[in-house]
Amino acid sequence: MQDNKRCGKCKKPYPATVEYFYRDRSRIDGMTRQCKTCKREVVNKMYKEQSKSIKGRLRVIWKQMLQRCSNPRRKDYKYYGERGIKVNFDSFEDFLTHILNELKTETRGLDIDRVDTNGHYERGNIRFITHAENMKNRRVNK
Ligand SMILES: [Zn+2]
Repeated sequence: MQDNKRCGKCKKPYPATVEYFYRDRSRIDGMTRQCKTCKREVVNKMYKEQSKSIKGRLRVIWKQMLQRCSNPRRKDYKYYGERGIKVNFDSFEDFLTHILNELKTETRGLDIDRVDTNGHYERGNIRFITHAENMKNRRVNK
């Protein structure tokens, strides 16, 4: 018989086997501190929060994009709105769907960019690059 291992979260004792705990090589007994049920809960919550924060960040990007293309009082309007660059997405949800479900790209910590700098913000013409790359491109464009 195997010794019981108490879950670090729900405090319930379970047999110390991989049936009840996930493998974790970094730990002395080779298993996670939390039982599978708790671990799953924690991971799900983390994913949910992560996707919430990705959405929040994309919303900021979306608003800035609209501003650049439509607000003449913005400093960078001359590179966008004045040059006829448009945002060709129906709504923020449309934009979000495109990035998360169609582009399926990493956006964390990245800036939005247009593949063709004379093109619009639209399907097929947006990508995400690092801030450093973005700055470099801007210098080249000038
Ligand atoms: Zn537990």
